[in-house]
Amino acid sequence: MTLYPVGYFAFPTLEETAVQPEDLSTNRRRHLLKAVAASATLLVTGCAVSTGARPRAVVVGGGWGGLGAVRGLLAGGGVDVTLIEPNEAFMSCPLSAHYIAGHQPASDFQRSYARIDQLGARRVRERVTEIDRVKREVVTATQRLPYDFLVLSLGVDYMEEGIQGYAAARAQLPVGFRAFEQLAVRQQVDEFLVKGGNFVISAPKPPYRCPPAPYERAFLIAEQMKQRGTKGKIILIDANPNPMPPPIAQPILNGMKSLYASQIEYLPDTAITGVDMGKRQLATSSGDVPFAHANLVLPMRAPALIRQAGLGERWAAVKLPSFQSQVDDSIYVVGDSQGTPLPKSGHVAFGSGQQVAESILERVAGKLPAPASGAVDLPLGICWANVTHKEAININVSASVVPGQAPKLKFTVDPQHNERSGAGAVSWGNGMWKAMLG
Ligand SMILES: Cc1cc2nc3c(=O)[nH]c(=O)nc-3n(C[C@H](O)[C@H](O)[C@H](O)COP(=O)(O)OP(=O)(O)OC[C@H]3O[C@@H](n4cnc5c(N)ncnc54)[C@H](O)[C@@H]3O)c2cc1C
Repeated sequence: MTLYPVGYFAFPTLEETAVQPEDLSTNRRRHLLKAVAASATLLVTGCAVSTGARPRAVVVGGGWGGLGAVRGLLAGGGVDVTLIEPNEAFMSCPLSAHYIAGHQPASDFQRSYARIDQLGARRVRERVTEIDRVKREVVTATQRLPYDFLVLSLGVDYMEEGIQGYAAARAQLPVGFRAFEQLAVRQQVDEFLVKGGNFVISAPKPPYRCPPAPYERAFLIAEQMKQRGTKGKIILIDANPNPMPPPIAQPILNGMKSLYASQIEYLPDTAITGVDMGKRQLATSSGDVPFAHANLVLPMRAPALIRQAGLGERWAAVKLPSFQSQVDDSIYVVGDSQGTPLPKSGHVAFGSGQQVAESILERVAGKLPAPASGAVDLPLGICWANVTHKEAININVSASVVPGQAPKLKFTVDPQHNERSGAGAVSWGNGMWKAMLG
């Protein structure tokens, strides 16, 4: 067992970290079935549901958190489940760096929503434009959908206003941190690998989605530069003094120095303030940086729908451990839109979606949540940062909370990139996609 760094947990085995989709659904399913079996009468705590009608759970967002909630609700049964998601299919952000750097096709990271349809959810392929909390309805361009319980898992929005000139240059400076946006980044990378020059990748200050991801992208593109003999360099502009999150700073810096010293120039503690597309130049706190191609990862916040519905400012304000909105008990916010210190990770999003499904079914069954007498475990976070196509650094985050207090997080990190975690990342991804859409 290796301890790294002092104070963090021992590094778990691959078997311990690998996700077993059967476990995810079987354990939860057992709970869920019990909850629904107990619901002889339809009594929805704190919600008005007419006798005889099945409660209506509306889930907005068919990504990691939304699919966790949908699968949990469908496994339990007894509620009408509607998923509102504008995309026709799912595309994973986790592991998509292998696509962006040209190692694998996009189709490896895409899945169909057919399984959700087969399991009996109603799927609405639209975008929600408004939440009417008074009438308990969500509004799309063509309809109003009533809900008894609303689960929001909307992901993130980019804060473009911090970089002067960005909005006008958006198409040439893609972020690519949301499903299907990876294509635009791949086009930049393909051109760069042929033509060379400066390729800028930036990392913002947290909180943002998957903090190790900008470094992972830089690594996998640098690996391709070496293999293809690309003339040029990656300039990694980091708003932070060290790679994020802090427990992986050392293994990330080790990977950068040992493998990519000639390909990656690292600029820590550097803020990007503006872009001049005419000169193809970025204004930064460390001076001007000319570039040929760029993948700017911007600061993030929850989508505007959260603010418009009065559910929070930068992020949705939720209670832990329930993930219920602080201002509306019939609304749950899971995944990256919620503003707790939990990592913005797909694993946490899926786990919190499943947990919320369980709570909804318990409320439907008329069960009040048992008052917590001490610390309660929160959904686990598992993240992977590939350093090469085959080797990765594994990061596990366990969290617990005493209701009313701030959650406590513990990180377990590989001391160094290794093939075992590279294989672990692949089996984790396959397991999660199966749990969501298999
Ligand atoms: C490069 C990269 C690597 C990553 N690696 C990992 C990893 O190794 N491990 C890990 O656990 N996590 C990883 N993540 C993070 C993970 O992708 C996110 O944490 C996860 O997607 C969050 O789930 P979510 O449900 O909040 O958002 P999403 O998965 O983004 O889903 C949000 C969904 O909501 C829909 N939506 C948004 N607005 C509306 C609306 N108004 N109406 C209807 N639908 C709407 C969107 O279309 C989208 O499908 C990575 C992320 C990136 C970018």
